[in-house]
Amino acid sequence: MTDLALYERLQRFFGDRVQRKALLAPYTSARVGGPADVLITVRSARELALVARRLWAWEVPFWVLGGGSNVLVADEGVRGVVVLNRSRKAAFVASAEPPAVWAESGVNFGSLARRAAALGLAGLEWAAGIPGTVGGAVVGNAGAHGGEVAAVLEMAEILHRERGRRFYPAEALAFAYRESALKEAGSDAVVLSATFRLRREPPEVIQERLQTYKAQRERTQPPGASMGSMFKNPPDDYAGRLIDAAGLKGTTVGDAEISTLHANFFVNHGSAKAQEIWALMYLARTTVARKFGVWLEPEIRPVGDWPPEALAALFGPQAWPSDEPLPRISEEGAA
Ligand SMILES: Cc1cc2nc3c(=O)[nH]c(=O)nc-3n(C[C@H](O)[C@H](O)[C@H](O)COP(=O)(O)OP(=O)(O)OC[C@H]3O[C@@H](n4cnc5c(N)ncnc54)[C@H](O)[C@@H]3O)c2cc1C
Repeated sequence: MTDLALYERLQRFFGDRVQRKALLAPYTSARVGGPADVLITVRSARELALVARRLWAWEVPFWVLGGGSNVLVADEGVRGVVVLNRSRKAAFVASAEPPAVWAESGVNFGSLARRAAALGLAGLEWAAGIPGTVGGAVVGNAGAHGGEVAAVLEMAEILHRERGRRFYPAEALAFAYRESALKEAGSDAVVLSATFRLRREPPEVIQERLQTYKAQRERTQPPGASMGSMFKNPPDDYAGRLIDAAGLKGTTVGDAEISTLHANFFVNHGSAKAQEIWALMYLARTTVARKFGVWLEPEIRPVGDWPPEALAALFGPQAWPSDEPLPRISEEGAA
């Protein structure tokens, strides 16, 4: 099916929710990425389920875009359909024991945490500065300041291509550091909503924690367009420390820069291309590997029309082409 035929078919069902050749950059936190053949915006969990079921039935490939704060969308864009999740409903159950909050997967996770805090409900303060949606946070087991989704998720409502719609407790989702079974499932599973456990605490105590975390972020993370941490922290170390020790802080490719404040943040200063961010990632990954013998694993996910070699070089188990031993740069601090 051509993208025009696909667009027309989808438009018959979903009307003006459907756009053709929609640029994705404005929907990502790094402000990079080319057009999707077709973009469908959903405004409720019900609509999200409806669209997913229809696309699976038609065997049309798609992926869900939440806040776009953990994906690197190719400059060439995305073939097929992108489903932009703008479901926004949330409900606090303050009288329950323990109290809880239910939210559709398109709700902004940080604002949910701040709303909980304002109600004297603790448990999500660590998430207040994390951009993106509840769905993206569940898929990636988002975490900060010692907290993570796995520790507070009561239940996720998931629509699976084969298994249908079910509620899963955290234990069923194989959560690990920035990982979950949902990441593996890719577009075969869609998070519709999630319920998080909370606890009552005096609002001023919660606010104080929020302020401490906020101040810590402002001190250590650069403002501006980025994807947050580009690489996962390797065991017993920090990706940012290694990139910094490799001498790469402040390195630029085009309008993309390895932040001078936090070396694991790559900032788009205005007109950076996904390709330039890729180049910085490749440079960071191979330089750190050559200097310290550590292959950094990307935290962000590539999306769209990337050349297979570009994906293999960054997201494969190791980036060095061929079986040759890894050439080491002998410098102070090198392994
Ligand atoms: C300044 C900054 C700071 C950050 N700090 C942190 C931090 O402290 N801790 C942390 O963990 N992360 C952090 N991040 C990364 C990012 O914000 C989180 O990973 C966030 O949870 C991603 O959510 P999202 O909605 O933006 O996901 P997206 O980037 O839109 O999507 C990520 C992946 O999840 C999938 N997905 C999204 N929604 C659904 C759904 N409903 N159903 C199925 N699949 C879905 C997408 O298809 C994609 O594969 C930071 C990012 C930035 C820009």
